[in-house]
Amino acid sequence: MIVFDLQCDQEHSFEGWFEDLKDLQRQIKKGLVSCPVCGSAQVRRVPSSFGIAKASSSIDQEKAAQLLGQSLKRYFVENFEDVGPQFAKEALKIHYGASEARNIRGVSTAEEEKVLKEEGVEFFKVGPEEPAPADSGEEED
Ligand SMILES: [Zn+2]
Repeated sequence: MIVFDLQCDQEHSFEGWFEDLKDLQRQIKKGLVSCPVCGSAQVRRVPSSFGIAKASSSIDQEKAAQLLGQSLKRYFVENFEDVGPQFAKEALKIHYGASEARNIRGVSTAEEEKVLKEEGVEFFKVGPEEPAPADSGEEED
């Protein structure tokens, strides 16, 4: 499954999960995708730096998720504050305005992710950490 950023003709932004781009295009064409805010079926895909492929049974998807995870990881490291295991807690705080709105990254359990989803917190998941490269020639003294 891939999550796509979508926008209706009233410029409401939302997300949808689809098998792939073809599936998304087919569903939009059939008018099956509608805006959760105003119900408009005039929906288009908006370009996004976030396209997360969620690993499932297929090996290809898993590989794609890993590759995606690797390039996203660099982006996350540079632009997101690492809150580690406090991720779910912090995401909820930000969601409810109890914490300063900012980009965060970290780790969460499946249980915490369930809570975040239930609370309507937007979050992105990237693949597992890739092993550290064997040759680290740029090591500092
Ligand atoms: Zn709308």
